Amino acid sequence: MSADVHQFLCRSDNFGLLLHDPTTGATAAVDVPDAAPYLKILSTKGWALSDILITHRHGDHIDGVPALRDAFPQAKLHIPAREAERIEAVTGKAHAHLREGDGVHVGSLRGQVIETPGHTLGHIAYHFAKEHLLFAGDTLFSLGCGRVFEGTMAQMWASLQKLAALPPETRLWCGHEYTQANGRFALSADPDNGALQKRMADVDALRAQGAFTLPVTLAQELATNPFLRASDVDTFADLRERKNKA
Ligand code: ZN
Ligand code: FE
Repeated sequence: MSADVHQFLCRSDNFGLLLHDPTTGATAAVDVPDAAPYLKILSTKGWALSDILITHRHGDHIDGVPALRDAFPQAKLHIPAREAERIEAVTGKAHAHLREGDGVHVGSLRGQVIETPGHTLGHIAYHFAKEHLLFAGDTLFSLGCGRVFEGTMAQMWASLQKLAALPPETRLWCGHEYTQANGRFALSADPDNGALQKRMADVDALRAQGAFTLPVTLAQELATNPFLRASDVDTFADLRERKNKA
């Protein structure tokens, strides 16, 4: 294993994520809902923060950035170009404004930016191909997807299709522990899916122990997530609208 990912809970249902490169010691925060848990874990692990990678402008993903930057002023802030102004109003000036295909280096780890508009217009995901890691923010959740707040259904569908086309062994990390609620809706939409029934039994057992349901492979999501399994954009849009009302 060439990269460590440490996952923890922030606020009520946001994931905090730290990506650590054991080769160089570089460590990146992926979104910062709240600085306190990040500072605690960095100190426990003895890791120095080198980078902050932001997926989108919502407060539950950036509100902790200023306090984290105060503690690690040398850490480089990477943000989506299309919402740079609104993010920098909260976080201060960023090191990089990222667009489709841009590279992000965390020590010796090489990530690539995938633009995934829909939840917000500037939303981006980070893919580390060699390590088979995907940080999808609020675009793709396990057994679900983000709400379409700013983009069109067609944009969100296209964004999900881009993520679904990554290698199936890719491990998905996302912005929220929503899997159990997503799974209840997924089962109502796709009740005869045996892989989904099995995944939900696992999810219920994990949550009963207080364990997280992420990461999960894209292969697993392709077999179980109704938003990825929709046959076309109209089916996707219908599903997303039903979920909004569920
Ligand atoms: Zn969001
Ligand atoms: Fe969020």
